[in-house]
Amino acid sequence: VEKENPIELLRKELNTYVATKEGEVQDLKKAAKYRQEFLADVSHELKTPIFAAQGFVHTLLDNPDEDLEIRTKFLEKAAKSLDGLDSLVQDLLTVSQIETGAIKIEKKKINLRPLIEEIFEQVEAKAKKREVSLKLIAPKGEIQVKADTQRISQVILNLVVNAIKYGKEKGLVQIIINEKKKAYTISVVDNGPGIPEEHLHRIFERFYRVDKSRAKNSGGTGLGLSIVKHIVQAHNSKISVQSEENKGTRFEFKLEKA
Ligand code: ADP
Repeated sequence: VEKENPIELLRKELNTYVATKEGEVQDLKKAAKYRQEFLADVSHELKTPIFAAQGFVHTLLDNPDEDLEIRTKFLEKAAKSLDGLDSLVQDLLTVSQIETGAIKIEKKKINLRPLIEEIFEQVEAKAKKREVSLKLIAPKGEIQVKADTQRISQVILNLVVNAIKYGKEKGLVQIIINEKKKAYTISVVDNGPGIPEEHLHRIFERFYRVDKSRAKNSGGTGLGLSIVKHIVQAHNSKISVQSEENKGTRFEFKLEKA
């Protein structure tokens, strides 16, 4: 067997080393770019509710003799903007926990039925406002899965709130649970206007909104679906979406049976 030239060996080693380092530099550059973009997005999103609240409060200060009714209206609007700011900061904290890996998914054996009943109670007022009916379709008895109670509640809540907000007025929002061999599939289905095909692949991106003005008025932070995606992934599952214009939208993911 012919021995390889030591110079040739060295050259090979050096090439591998350089390639690795180049890869690392690329990764660092990507991370830096991501951070920059994230910061720009966040600043932009924070500005909107801050400017709005500022405007209302300053108008109130500048017009101390205005009617009580008008003053109350302005205060209500300022309060709404501040509530939006609060949700945004909450969601940003969740995103940052997810990205730094600080989020701990603690899988326990849980029963989905009472969890969903609780979520339906939480969104009752929102559903009533749009005259939306809520329905759970599930196999009889307990639905035992391995999941992090709090995080999975957040996933289902985000999907149900979206279905109520963006679904049809006087429409129907259903949670449909199907039993498979090793898992349950959980679907949140609405019969609303749907999501146009060209937007469908982007809705899980942070701050991505299909109808910008409508989504902002509805009090969303634009982070809901990106949080959903990350939590579902942390449960070794994947979130999928199907949507048909004027028919409705269906989000679906799986949870391992307990
Ligand atoms: P937002 O805070 O804007 O609701 P999300 O990340 O929860 O942010 O959703 C992103 C966008 O996806 C929404 O702004 C909306 O345009 C669209 N979307 C989400 N769920 C639905 C649905 N069930 N039907 C139609 N559009 C939806």
